[in-house]
Amino acid sequence: MTDQFTPPPALGCRTSPVLKQRGQREVFCGLTGIIWLHRKIQDAFFLVVGSRTCAHLLQSAAGVMIFAEPRFGTAILEESDLAGLNDAHAELDRTVNELLARRPDIRQLFLVGSCPSEVIKLDLSRAAERLTQQFAPKVRVLEYSGSGIETTFTQGEDACLAAMVPVLPETDARELLVVGALPDVVEDQMLALLDGLGIGPVRVLPARSVDAEMGVGKNTVYALTQPFLTETHAALERRGARHLPAPFPFGDEGTTAWLAAIAREFGVSDEKFAEVTEAPRRRARAAIAQASEPLNGKSVFFFPDSQLEVPLARFLTRECGMSAVEVGMPYIHDAVHGPDLDLLPAGPQISEGQDVDIQLDRCRAARPDLTVCGLGLANPLEAEGLSTKWAIELVFTPVHFYEQAGDLASLFARPLRRKSILTPSTGVAAE
Ligand code: SF4
Repeated sequence: MTDQFTPPPALGCRTSPVLKQRGQREVFCGLTGIIWLHRKIQDAFFLVVGSRTCAHLLQSAAGVMIFAEPRFGTAILEESDLAGLNDAHAELDRTVNELLARRPDIRQLFLVGSCPSEVIKLDLSRAAERLTQQFAPKVRVLEYSGSGIETTFTQGEDACLAAMVPVLPETDARELLVVGALPDVVEDQMLALLDGLGIGPVRVLPARSVDAEMGVGKNTVYALTQPFLTETHAALERRGARHLPAPFPFGDEGTTAWLAAIAREFGVSDEKFAEVTEAPRRRARAAIAQASEPLNGKSVFFFPDSQLEVPLARFLTRECGMSAVEVGMPYIHDAVHGPDLDLLPAGPQISEGQDVDIQLDRCRAARPDLTVCGLGLANPLEAEGLSTKWAIELVFTPVHFYEQAGDLASLFARPLRRKSILTPSTGVAAE
């Protein structure tokens, strides 16, 4: 299955020395995940227990009009709550009662912690237990933290899914569980590929509604589609489920290796695998070849942000002809990121965590052709003449599996094309 890929490097990055830094960080908070999760889980409501800042972040990032009745909102902690003058639990109960009376379509309610609720040590797990007793079985109430104190923005989804795992029913059925919130159209493509391989039943976490939820147990095997789901991974292992380690399904190589790990587990023949994957692989390779032309021979520097950095560096170096200078990750988890690190050729500095000023100095010294970073760093770096790609775009855009492989390469090529229009001497053909 590797015949049409660059062979795995003799020395990958799995055992490379990791530069660990714990200084000032530049990342978004975990509330951001609500923006894609509320679209995915169609009977859920996300109630942030936070400040007006949290409400503004969500409202502006999601761009949803308030009269559209979005499935998220903020229970605002006022100054008197923060000063401990009010009973925040009583206020929260009143807000939830009003919400559920007004919105009978809600079947799952997530209480989402924030920096302010954590600072005043509001115990949302106690609130979730109390409200579950009040509203079960019609509404399930769970809680997780989306606070920016400890998290990167993608940890919001991880915390949400990890909160769901303990309440999934027990099952002995041998089933494949695919874990990670994907856009519906991408999820349907993935299910069609697995169905073509004869693999089933396949369950997905998060399910689109509570009624479509699956059980989990010692005969469950699971594959992750997002590299930031490390807490969910641990929660599933605690339930006895078994992880299928694989590179993540970005690009032709990642998708093929991800499917191959599942196919091996379910005893799919090589002939069947080739029959199902050959045509989409051909399309993916053609799309990548066309889109990645401006990337060939260029260098890339990843700041730690989305937690997609290692699999994307593998895609860009092995399928788009780029070289990686530094690959920064907020956290590195060997069981989850190891297969991608094995394929990433040794050479780049692998770094974990951040001390942003020192990392900016390294980036300025390297002058990479492309820098992948958070929104807060992108504009200053652009002003210094560096081309940047916002990491958050990679989470908001469909980029998984074969049919999106060309779009994924295009996302990285676009800043280089833009620069070539502004400064034609860069030698990149303009669109
Ligand atoms: S959770 Fe914290 S970082 Fe996020 S918007 Fe609220 S106050 Fe800001």
